[in-house]
Amino acid sequence: MNDQPCDVVAVGAHPDDVEIACGGTLALLAEQGYRVGIVDLTDGEPTPKSPGPEVRLAEARCAGEILGVAQRVTLDLPNRRLFDSFESRVALAIEFRKMRPKVVIGFGAKTPMASPDHWQAMQITDAAVFYARLTKWDEHFQGLPVHTIPTQLYFRLAFEPMTLEGFSSHFTVDISGTLEKKLESIRCYETQFPPEKAYVFDRIRGAAMLAGNASGYRAGEVFVSTKPLGTRDMMGMLFG
Ligand SMILES: [Zn+2]
Repeated sequence: MNDQPCDVVAVGAHPDDVEIACGGTLALLAEQGYRVGIVDLTDGEPTPKSPGPEVRLAEARCAGEILGVAQRVTLDLPNRRLFDSFESRVALAIEFRKMRPKVVIGFGAKTPMASPDHWQAMQITDAAVFYARLTKWDEHFQGLPVHTIPTQLYFRLAFEPMTLEGFSSHFTVDISGTLEKKLESIRCYETQFPPEKAYVFDRIRGAAMLAGNASGYRAGEVFVSTKPLGTRDMMGMLFG
């Protein structure tokens, strides 16, 4: 199964990032029949309430199953000291060459007051999208064939402002039908969201409803296209 290409791959620094950022969209894509992959750059450990990486990985598996993802890879880059480096770029580009996505979704901004790993993850992802297609560099990529990723999108964590500063091509995915799956997948991370942090679920639900409402949906997730969006079907885009 895992040697089939993925249509979409979402990249996070830690298990739970992509669920919070775009879990509703990933669940929707899976329901629509697309092969969805997730790459977590680190195992996210240590964290204050988790007994260790095995538990966090089990939580990530649970979340992935709820979202319907076809493949989830956890790289062994270090949590809390994740840095954009040649080695981390290559590690992710190797996964892109294996998973061969049409779309890569990842961090699009710093997350002040939260983990600095997120900003590093953005830079690593940008570079790995580029590295995945470079020829005459086989020695770094286990001889894997090059792969050109046609589309790269940025996400924002659900707690952040709805728009990413400096980008014009925002769009909203209607996750009215998958918001509950998104929340359920985040609930898998019991070590990260114990009962005393239950308010997080209200925040995520509220942010999704606010984002969706702005576009006429019950709930939504906002993305940025790294290139201006175009269409040959204006009415389809506006009303489809
Ligand atoms: Zn994170």
